[in-house]
Amino acid sequence: MASTCCVWLRRDLRVADHPALSAAVDRADRVVCVFCVDDRLLTGRSPSGPRTQFMLECLADVDRSLRERGSRLVVRRGLPEVEIPRLAAAVGAGEIHFTRDATPYARARGRRVTDACAAAGIRLVGHPGLLAVDDPAAVVTGSGTAYQVFTPFHRRWLAEPRRAVLDAPGDLGGPVEIDAGRIPGLSELGLSQQVSRPQVGGERAARARLDEFRSGGLGQYADGGHDRLADDGTSRLSAYLRFGCISPRQVEDGVDGSPAGGAVRRQVCWRDFYLDLLRRHPANARLEQQEARRGIAWRDAPEDLRRWQDGLTGYPLVDAGMRQLQAEGFMHNRTRMVVGSFLTKHLGIDWREGERWFMSLLLDGDPAVNNGNWQWIASVGSDPQPVGRRLLSPTRQQERFDPDGVYVRRWVPELRGLPNAYLAEPWRMPVDLGLDCGCVVGRDYPQPIVDHARARADALARYAAAGR
Ligand code: FAD
Repeated sequence: MASTCCVWLRRDLRVADHPALSAAVDRADRVVCVFCVDDRLLTGRSPSGPRTQFMLECLADVDRSLRERGSRLVVRRGLPEVEIPRLAAAVGAGEIHFTRDATPYARARGRRVTDACAAAGIRLVGHPGLLAVDDPAAVVTGSGTAYQVFTPFHRRWLAEPRRAVLDAPGDLGGPVEIDAGRIPGLSELGLSQQVSRPQVGGERAARARLDEFRSGGLGQYADGGHDRLADDGTSRLSAYLRFGCISPRQVEDGVDGSPAGGAVRRQVCWRDFYLDLLRRHPANARLEQQEARRGIAWRDAPEDLRRWQDGLTGYPLVDAGMRQLQAEGFMHNRTRMVVGSFLTKHLGIDWREGERWFMSLLLDGDPAVNNGNWQWIASVGSDPQPVGRRLLSPTRQQERFDPDGVYVRRWVPELRGLPNAYLAEPWRMPVDLGLDCGCVVGRDYPQPIVDHARARADALARYAAAGR
């Protein structure tokens, strides 16, 4: 009798370079791929219409790839610990292969499914593929302790061996005889699309994006090019990596050999770093990693928070970034740092408010990566640097990374007519000039929500009061 294996897909929505899928193909005559829509995730701590829509597009793309291989995606909705063993029993599979994850929820869920499968006599087999390295636990210091700081982690990570990138499998052994279910629509899940210009999800789109980046932006990525806001010269692969439409190993291989390849790999390493950090410190999901920073007296300022979210702070670079997020479900990394610093330092608002807002809109929103970056920019995370080092002046950052105002004019249309000399600090513009340019500050564009120098002093005092 023909043997059958299942593959439980989660955020590994591709067929190429998929160790779990390839292992299942090697072990059985027929492979059944299943995705379980888990409402606890969709409506839990970080619901997001834009990110869920992106995921549904990824699922449709995987289904297409599976059909090209004589199979199709099986979709279930409910508790994975119920649905996954039930499906395996229905198709006569003795093994279920899956890609190991790092986040607390995914790991707890994996344990529940493992237990339920074991009770039914079904074996769950985990595989690498989420990270560039197979085993993040191996990236430790000589004495076996975990790195707290990125730079030595990166050095050690570079030396870690890599597995070869795998081809997509061929025929999967035929379709299932059971009801395959269907991919639901966004509204059926009780969510709606909130961004107007999102990237399209899926493995095909991810590969096209990598090819485009290799022939375009990659050349300028190094030497600060990835920080130039006007060029939009980064890979834009983060949402594809988030849902596993492309693997970090494919990205590494894709950029290998180019002068900028090392700079891109360094960023991919940040992703491994944060995913591993949350695996080792699951409490970070709610608490500052630095215990001494758990007592910061954050301001309760809902109106300031709303102005930050809506891009109405009066600081053009902050507003441009926040409006890009609302329009695209994406924001350039440099601007993410500026708006993160602004929320936590200038406005003194709890980093968890920023983390939550980002998770509601970002297509690439990832519990570990978002949390790690928010803790980093709020100076409460694994790498304790002096607060002032991550207290960015939005004005200086704009002058440095968007000197001609291309990015700001793209996202803040009311400032388009301003001369460059006033674009970073429009409140300094004489009213007559504002009338000529069609933008009077206080009427057409907000006055700055805070004074930078005073906000900086307040922030330093707030952190100092919380103790070292
Ligand atoms: P590229 O510059 O082309 O980098 C290549 C890849 O490296 C990215 O696709 C991403 O997977 C990874 N990467 C790049 N920068 C970082 C970083 N700082 N940390 C971890 N991985 C990185 N990235 C997310 O993927 N999800 C998030 O939820 C997220 N939240 C963030 C929150 C804040 C406050 C900040 C400051 C950064 C956050 N980032 C997050 C990191 C970074 O901004 C995005 O990964 C990057 O902007 C994506 O654009 P890109 O794909 O063009 O990046």
